Amino acid sequence: MISFRQASIADAESWVRTNLNDVCETSGDWMPSERFRGGQIAATQALSEFDPKGYASRRNEVLPVAARGASSLSPYIRHGLLSLPEVWSHVSDSPERDRDKFRDELLWQEYTRHLYARLGHRLSQPLRHQLGDQRPGDGWSQRDEMACLNFALNELEADGWLPNQTRMWLASHWAIRSKADWQEGERQMFSNLLDGSYANRAGWQWTIGSATGRPYGFSRWQVEKRAPELCSSCTSKHCCPIEQWPDEPDLEAPPGALRLRRGEYPPDEPIYAALDPTRTPDLVWITAESLGDNDPALTAHPDLPAVFVFDIPLLKKLNVHPRRLVFLTECLMDLSQRRETLVAISDPTEVLQSHNVAVTAAPVPGFRSHSKKVRPAAVYPWPWLAPISDAPLSSFSAWRRTLPASLSTNSLKRQKQRNRRRE
Ligand SMILES: Cc1cc2nc3c(=O)[nH]c(=O)nc-3n(C[C@H](O)[C@H](O)[C@H](O)COP(=O)(O)OP(=O)(O)OC[C@H]3O[C@@H](n4cnc5c(N)ncnc54)[C@H](O)[C@@H]3O)c2cc1C
Repeated sequence: MISFRQASIADAESWVRTNLNDVCETSGDWMPSERFRGGQIAATQALSEFDPKGYASRRNEVLPVAARGASSLSPYIRHGLLSLPEVWSHVSDSPERDRDKFRDELLWQEYTRHLYARLGHRLSQPLRHQLGDQRPGDGWSQRDEMACLNFALNELEADGWLPNQTRMWLASHWAIRSKADWQEGERQMFSNLLDGSYANRAGWQWTIGSATGRPYGFSRWQVEKRAPELCSSCTSKHCCPIEQWPDEPDLEAPPGALRLRRGEYPPDEPIYAALDPTRTPDLVWITAESLGDNDPALTAHPDLPAVFVFDIPLLKKLNVHPRRLVFLTECLMDLSQRRETLVAISDPTEVLQSHNVAVTAAPVPGFRSHSKKVRPAAVYPWPWLAPISDAPLSSFSAWRRTLPASLSTNSLKRQKQRNRRRE
């Protein structure tokens, strides 16, 4: 194991180039994210600078950048530097409409996490409808003739991040208009994102209609509305390939489509009470889901070193862009300013088996399989925003109706009123 004692995040890029270059397919010609720095300090600062005023009306704006309402907190939320309960509380005193719209989105994030925790890798298959006529190939091949596509891809490649609006443009263009295999498009977007997560495959499933049967069509209309300057400067402005709505795709219910009713795929949470009294933890194992100072296992064992394992077999499979590895390394170097942080480049089960680790249960299938071999001495519960249960997952609204009143927002109350009026 390597010790990052009081390392500076300025050294993260060169550390990745020296130690992790061969786990990525990208050649040496790459740059870290232009916009995002990893670490608790950067995450806390981003949250304190986020003002949700205007979020409800500006969340979908793309250009000019100054008009955007999106928080850009997702890389920090994704890696557990900001927990959803903490971000939820941050907006308590914000104007009601903005607060509720923002909290609705946090609930979407929680919903995708529940989906992934309960369905595991089934989430990579079409949930309820299958797109017919999908072909191999590059669904973004018109990049050079479409300023909108090119702009979104440039931002993805420079920053490793996109607002929700352009994620929907890219996913819809790839799968609905170009009819390219959506799982390949999802892999390409995932590998470029700093916040990429398998839970957020749900974003593709919702955009292409495989979850709801109602695909999102992308056309010039959205670009004119959300980023008009792209159309006016586009070389194809007089012969726009997306002037019209795309044809409705064929969506069929595949055999064995998941119904996701209450009780199906119940959660399989570890038994947290199982602190093994015969084994005293000697390290806190931190995972990519939970790299923040407030990780429950780190908080419970303030004097123990933290250990993170760059999981080489997994990284080779995921093929993430090196900028993601720089972001993770920055998180670890930043943590090393406040406590001893050890790093290994290996298979976590091999490195950790001989230790008595304390760890926070990550709500992902890989954690469950690794922890069977690692056999942690202490497992701390994941800080859910909404308690995980066997609630229906068939739609966001069905799941949401089961949440405690403390997670209610006015949009939910309005929906309930509408339902009552219909009854
Ligand atoms: C095709 C597609 C792929 C996506 N892939 C990912 C991904 O890999 N990782 C990821 O974190 N998000 C993903 N999303 C969801 C969403 O686009 C991003 O979370 C959001 O754009 C991040 O920017 P932000 O932090 O400024 O969001 P804000 O609008 O400021 O929202 C705050 C937080 O709410 C959550 N959130 C917002 N919108 C959504 C949404 N539509 N679904 C779920 N949670 C949401 C995120 O945690 C986000 O950080 C995807 C959406 C689509 C349509």
